Amino acid sequence: MKPTVEQALKEIERVVGAEHLLTDTATLSRYSVNMLATADILPAAVVRPTSTEELQQVLKIANTCKTPVWTLSGGQNRGYGMACAATPGTLIIDLKRMNRILEVNVELAYALVEPGVTFAQLYRYLRDNDIPLWMDVPSGSPEGSCLGNITERGAGYTPLGEKFLFSCGMEVVLADGQVLRTGTGTLPNSQTWQVFKWGYGPSLDGLFTQSNFGIVTKAGFWLMPRPPAYEPLAVTMDDPEAVYKAVEILRPLKLNMVIPNGACVTHVRKALGLTACWGEGKNILPRVGRRFDYPAETLKALKETYALGEWNFAGALYGLPETVRTYRGIVEDAFRSALPGCRFLSAEEQAASPYWRAREKAMRGEPLWEFDMSDWEGKAGALWISPVAPVTNEAVEQQIRIAEETYAKYGFHYAAELILGTGRDLHHIIWLLFDRSDAEERRRAELCEREMYDRYCEVGYLPYRTGLSTGDYLMRKLGPFRDICHDLKQLFDPNNILSPGKSGIDLANRS
Ligand code: ADP
Repeated sequence: MKPTVEQALKEIERVVGAEHLLTDTATLSRYSVNMLATADILPAAVVRPTSTEELQQVLKIANTCKTPVWTLSGGQNRGYGMACAATPGTLIIDLKRMNRILEVNVELAYALVEPGVTFAQLYRYLRDNDIPLWMDVPSGSPEGSCLGNITERGAGYTPLGEKFLFSCGMEVVLADGQVLRTGTGTLPNSQTWQVFKWGYGPSLDGLFTQSNFGIVTKAGFWLMPRPPAYEPLAVTMDDPEAVYKAVEILRPLKLNMVIPNGACVTHVRKALGLTACWGEGKNILPRVGRRFDYPAETLKALKETYALGEWNFAGALYGLPETVRTYRGIVEDAFRSALPGCRFLSAEEQAASPYWRAREKAMRGEPLWEFDMSDWEGKAGALWISPVAPVTNEAVEQQIRIAEETYAKYGFHYAAELILGTGRDLHHIIWLLFDRSDAEERRRAELCEREMYDRYCEVGYLPYRTGLSTGDYLMRKLGPFRDICHDLKQLFDPNNILSPGKSGIDLANRS
């Protein structure tokens, strides 16, 4: 007879203890909110293992009983779905209790952590132990998982912003309970697991990012030595067209590593949305309007109060005082000659504005909340639509035009940030805020998101990540790649128990 979910849960309870297998309604509803889904996606239960060994046992049972599971590390997947599975009835595996910082190596500047380690936790650890290393943080939530952000290939604001690029070595539990270590960790006594990414033979780490081929239980990543000099740069630009010139100015500065960090060019609506999250900026919430819908006069006044332009550049310089001074001159010359109307804010002006204060902190790895704006009255829906563009003015112009046209069609307002990675690519992170409690508006948001994906893919721009409810929609555009992901899924997880539908891989019965 086919084992039931109830039987699986009973056996799993014996492994983790009754207090760590939760089935009460309040807990289940906390893990059921997907921003766009028309109904809550209720899980069957939530299990909280405390070690790799416990997780191995849980997966062996789930695999034998063919019980689908969904993995969460920090459960803060804001803008891309929240703490929720793609389909109802799964067993949520919440790895929060696996929260040990296993190693911070000061000499070689790296960390090895379990999935439950949050940005806030690692930040406090470095600070309280006076360790002269900086970490990278994404926007969003200090309670997010350092490891989860690597598996999602998140982007941050320091020179180590490309999280997966700067990760080094993973431990992964496969669907049948086997443990795999990647990189040089394939040698059990490896002395180079967190210092050399590639190991010997095929490099497998990428297979465990944005996928459902395994559950990552340890990840290494690099930290940066605290530099002797650090200078945040804040430049405001009033001309709505300035963004295109800014991209051209920044490309050589990024390619030549004058500006080494995940530098941003942010539209005023997004900057104000963020301003509303911090300190005195919270006062503007009632005036802001839920959907970035500001009357022109209000917008003008808010720009003045918070030292913002129509577009706002935040980047930083790191190094010796003399190199930072020289680089500052190079950056100023580049901006002033191409954009004479731009304004470099002084340190005092930056300190007086919640937005610029927050940027300054993020660029040296201090975690911050960015989501109060999307929490109004407990019913805000927030989505990020994130196509990647090459760093050229033509591409950025094309991407912004598509966003503005599509948002106008569905009655939303463009609010975005361009995060420049290596100097070649930029993440165009477009915020979509809507009222979740209004079914009509939620439906409009969903249609808008899908049309954005249609239009971007049509002209060759893939998003770097999607929300839970659009993985399948996007994956269906990718033809043979979708088939190969399916074949790999068969190989790693023939019973399709691990996060069915993650990134659109094997949502249910394939069609
Ligand atoms: P964060 O708190 O960093 O935002 P979440 O815990 O919300 O991250 O996870 C976001 C997504 O990343 C999850 O929906 C899941 O698909 C994937 N994920 C999280 N943790 C792991 C892990 N340990 N192994 C594999 N995938 C993971």
